[in-house]
Amino acid sequence: MLIFGDYHTHTIYSRNHHGKSTIEQNVQIAVQKGLKDIGITEHGFNHVFFGVRRKNIKKMRAEIERLQNIYPIKIYLGIEANLISSDGDIDLTPEEQTWFDYVIMGYHTFGKPKNLKEYFNFFKKNSRAYKHNKYTQDIIDANTNAYIKALQKNRINIISHLGSKMKVDVLKVAKECKKHGTFIELNARRLCFTQQEAKQMIEIETQFILDSDAHICTNVGECNKGINFVVKNEIPQKLVANLNKLPKFVYKQN
Ligand SMILES: [Zn+2]
Ligand SMILES: [Zn+2]
Repeated sequence: MLIFGDYHTHTIYSRNHHGKSTIEQNVQIAVQKGLKDIGITEHGFNHVFFGVRRKNIKKMRAEIERLQNIYPIKIYLGIEANLISSDGDIDLTPEEQTWFDYVIMGYHTFGKPKNLKEYFNFFKKNSRAYKHNKYTQDIIDANTNAYIKALQKNRINIISHLGSKMKVDVLKVAKECKKHGTFIELNARRLCFTQQEAKQMIEIETQFILDSDAHICTNVGECNKGINFVVKNEIPQKLVANLNKLPKFVYKQN
């Protein structure tokens, strides 16, 4: 089984040395590993420690255009936006969304919440529930609703590491993803689905995508954890967008 593209990689543009390699190093490794596509996707602007700076997006785009003329691979500029409210807000305005070729969205503990109310009622509650592994049905419902609203309000192409640090009703989120042509990621660092959830997602023909979430160039294209999950749960190859083929992103008009 071969992956044709890796759509979730970080570089030095994620602040505070979070990503270790340059865009060019990620691209070089991707070419060496025979990938046809690579996506550069830094942490969204509201990530307190690692968020990419707005002023660097133009610079990144120019760098990608330069590299596109040198290397035999398609290079995309995406972003890993943060879920910042229980009402489905993310840290990208509609205008900012147009700066990118596609948008990944995920929940990160240190994504700065939309306001203080969200900090206490959404982020804090989830941190506590995660820490003590005590999720009430109310919290799970609120989390699920946040993802569903985010999918309805924004152009989201990929949901990263669903279920990590924020428990949701995976089947309900997967059903909403289907409506929007959004891929559910099988992330090589954080893969949190149970066998039961995998089975339910297969039944509704969820579209998955394998990603490395590499923070150093040598990890680009390394998706073994996801591939093992595909094999173990007998996920049909046609449901994995970048396995032996290239994905088609659906671009929603805002
Ligand atoms: Zn992430
Ligand atoms: Zn990431």
